[in-house]
Amino acid sequence: MADKNTTHGQGFATRMSHAGRAGTRVHGFVNPAVHRGSTVLHPNAESRRAFQKDKWNRVMTYGTAGGPTQYALEDVVAEIEGGTRCVLVGTGLAAVTVPLMAYLKTGDHCLMPDSAYGPARNVCNGLLKDWGVETTYYDPLIDEAGIRALIRPNTKVVYTESPGSHTFEVQDVPAIARAAHAAGCVVMMDNTWGIHHFMPFQHGVDVSIQALTKYVGGHSDVLLGSITVNSEKDYEVVRGAASQMGHFAAPDDCWLALRGARTMPIRLKQQEKSGLEVARWFENRPEVLSVLHPALPSHPQHALWKRDFSGACSLFGVVFKPHYTEADIFNFVDALKLFGIGASWGGFESLALPTTGFITRTATSPDLGGFTVRIHIGLEDVGDLIADLTQGLATLPK
Ligand SMILES: *Cc1c(COP(=O)(O)O)cnc(C)c1O
Repeated sequence: MADKNTTHGQGFATRMSHAGRAGTRVHGFVNPAVHRGSTVLHPNAESRRAFQKDKWNRVMTYGTAGGPTQYALEDVVAEIEGGTRCVLVGTGLAAVTVPLMAYLKTGDHCLMPDSAYGPARNVCNGLLKDWGVETTYYDPLIDEAGIRALIRPNTKVVYTESPGSHTFEVQDVPAIARAAHAAGCVVMMDNTWGIHHFMPFQHGVDVSIQALTKYVGGHSDVLLGSITVNSEKDYEVVRGAASQMGHFAAPDDCWLALRGARTMPIRLKQQEKSGLEVARWFENRPEVLSVLHPALPSHPQHALWKRDFSGACSLFGVVFKPHYTEADIFNFVDALKLFGIGASWGGFESLALPTTGFITRTATSPDLGGFTVRIHIGLEDVGDLIADLTQGLATLPK
């Protein structure tokens, strides 16, 4: 349930400072305690039985049902995405798999964008396929009529992710959602890139997925995922599936994510600004073919991004000119001193990850025109980052 202390109408930073706090103050301290526990004791047997009947309504029956630390984070995440209820799970990937498994049954059909996060494809091609669920991958740039044409009588889920992992196509989510809802399908979205810059429930999404591991955690030290919904009906489906499968978010991890959320608006603002500055700088470099950043006017779906998003995060792609080899690009990345080489993003530190080998496509072409590096801009001084990138580019053959 949304916290009584929500402060709708105020700015994002104000809301992130206050969300999830009412009822969690302990002995006057500002932050909630970390309530670790499995057993929850009851004063008598009748009380225990009464609690069991109402297990999802924030009645503490057992550790797996969550407790005060989780409830506070649920409220914060619902506030970030503008939903009513949130289910926390141990990783962003579990936040992808749980709703897919919750809504899809044997004989059902799922529509998945060709640009989806790789592990989302894996579950469609793995467990779901084994259980008799069929997936069709679609061009992420599809329009309303395109989705309508792909929907079958047994299509149950239309999944979206915008912008796409590694390739950054912006989807027309409202149009996709219109076609999906007209056919009675559930619309899911991996909204990790958009965070609060894309308000999923205002654009027709029913179930919104976040890897809290990224900007909410913000410090590369926690794995966590959330599934946010805007109706009790969807909450019961998602929460029911998560509970049946034993999903859980550890209180220590929730506490870290809560701590991260308080400073996220200001980190995001700085990282958006620095990210754009570096993206523009890359765009003017002779070594670069294109920069895949939806907030740049050169991005093919820039107008769509502008229509639906209120801002950008600091993750984007850089496509190098085709005469550079993979070895050249690896040398460039290896030469960087301030950029780590690794998966994930959203932390305080910058990352550079060659992504060409990570892109799987079956419905569209994976060819971006050259080798690609995914850049995440952290909180370092942007002048230092650009100086480091400049010396890195100097390793490329003339
Ligand atoms: C990282 C990521 C996930 C998964 O999050 P984990 O916590 O690492 O499991 C899901 N979707 C997207 C778009 C991601 O970038």
